[in-house]
Amino acid sequence: MTFGNYLPALVAALLVSAHLISASSNASTLSSCLSSANLQPVSSSSIDYVADSLAFNRRFSYSPADIVFPTSTHEVASAVKCASHAGVKVAARSGGHSYAANGVGGQNGSLVVDLRHLNSTNVTASDKTAVFGTGIRLGDLALALFNGGQQAMAHGTCPYVGTGGHLGCGGFGFPSRLWGLALDAVIKAQVVLANGSIVNASNTENKDLFFAIRGAAPSFGIVTSLTVKTHSAPPTNILFNYAFSAPNSTIAAKTFLAFQKFGANNAPSQLGINVQLANGSFAFGGVYYGPQSQFENVIQPLLDAVPQPPINSSVKAYDWVGVLQQLGDDDGILNTNTKPDISDTFYAKSLMVAEDKPLTEAALLSFFEYLYSDGTTTDTSWFTLADLWGGPDSAINAVSSTKTAFSRRSALYTFQFYASSMNKSPPYPTDGISFVDGMVNSITTKMSGTEFAMYGCYIDPQLSAAEAHKVYYGNSTTKRLQAIKSRLDPHNTFDFPQAVGR
Ligand SMILES: Cc1cc2nc3c(=O)[nH]c(=O)nc-3n(C[C@H](O)[C@H](O)[C@H](O)COP(=O)(O)OP(=O)(O)OC[C@H]3O[C@@H](n4cnc5c(N)ncnc54)[C@H](O)[C@@H]3O)c2cc1C
Repeated sequence: MTFGNYLPALVAALLVSAHLISASSNASTLSSCLSSANLQPVSSSSIDYVADSLAFNRRFSYSPADIVFPTSTHEVASAVKCASHAGVKVAARSGGHSYAANGVGGQNGSLVVDLRHLNSTNVTASDKTAVFGTGIRLGDLALALFNGGQQAMAHGTCPYVGTGGHLGCGGFGFPSRLWGLALDAVIKAQVVLANGSIVNASNTENKDLFFAIRGAAPSFGIVTSLTVKTHSAPPTNILFNYAFSAPNSTIAAKTFLAFQKFGANNAPSQLGINVQLANGSFAFGGVYYGPQSQFENVIQPLLDAVPQPPINSSVKAYDWVGVLQQLGDDDGILNTNTKPDISDTFYAKSLMVAEDKPLTEAALLSFFEYLYSDGTTTDTSWFTLADLWGGPDSAINAVSSTKTAFSRRSALYTFQFYASSMNKSPPYPTDGISFVDGMVNSITTKMSGTEFAMYGCYIDPQLSAAEAHKVYYGNSTTKRLQAIKSRLDPHNTFDFPQAVGR
């Protein structure tokens, strides 16, 4: 064998070691810059590194270059400057609930900027606004808004989800048909850009950035504080649940069809409602933001339309905090300092059913046949939700599709398909991904001419960047975002597997 035979392997080995040397020298440049800025980085040699690198979704584990816990926007800016200088990618972490573990980078080697100390709130009930740091989580924000003059806004139900990630991608909750997505409440943001500058974004300042951070924030900067419009919390909130036996797929499909028709034609915007499916269960649940006497008239057309009456029902009135406690957590905790967060090991996908392309009966039948067969034998613990987003007077769809990077403004309802390992810990069952894919395919293959959008807060990590951009943003919003990205973050400092700019 001659030297020439070894040459390709030698070149490859040199390239790999050059890459490793450069990655490790970037990491040490980063660590020393962060230390000089008094940011006390947690790096791989630190005792806390493993615990601080854990993702909510334990299906993923990534090794960040460093993790910092800044206490001010200026410290966030210093951290971003250090990373930009060292050529290290940056990920913000708010509540750490990204489905793809993007809060720890979604890949190895990122600088994680954990925002937990940026958690102050200032509520001005008299002009219905609030300003908060994006390290605060949803449960704590809801309490602060309510305690600051009985104010409220629309957002998701899980108290431990972070505001930074949630308002950066969408933020759906039962009040969203009444008040819009959480990101629709934003009137101003403070953002740290890739070059470390601190800027404001609103309808009058840095308008492109303001557009981008409402739907695609993780690709554009670190939002350190948000100013939102609030609402007076409704005094009466009716929490309801109707369970059905749905003994076979035909009756299940017809029950679902009744929801679909009711949602499109009869559901007032004060009604938040979904279909909740799991192995052996089928229910309608939600909240009516108004008095019980009104609710009974509102829900009756749906109950009249189902093929078989519910086998169980529960309808109860709560105040605002009471209904959030019921929705949020098994033990009703909204204050996330009370106990540590839990974790899960899961794969999820979504599908947005457009108002002008509701599911056909054949697609629904195919879906329920799948759930009633594969759904009973899978090694996962699964659920599916179909949340009503559109229908009469929906505030979500009243927003123009070009106003925010969250451009999906014509969904009638949004499915989430979610399957965990049985004990919520690794390893993830080998059939998990194909089982969830199968749920989606059972619908889409019956409607092959329909292009379905997907919800960018329920990230599907199996999608390539191009696929993700298409289903989350659509082609024209993606082009607009790419142009903004190349101007504001030309070196892709804010980067993860599905980032704009990939
Ligand atoms: C248990 C659970 C329940 C959920 N319920 C709902 C629900 O009811 N409704 C709904 O709409 N969604 C829901 N979601 C989805 C949730 O909205 C998203 O996963 C959201 O991105 C999580 O935000 P986070 O801050 O907790 O996550 P993180 O992992 O901290 O962040 C998510 C992404 O946002 C980026 N990011 C975080 N903070 C900032 C910031 N300040 N500036 C810029 N980028 C930032 C991160 O880098 C990452 O890319 C739920 C998720 C889970 C796990």
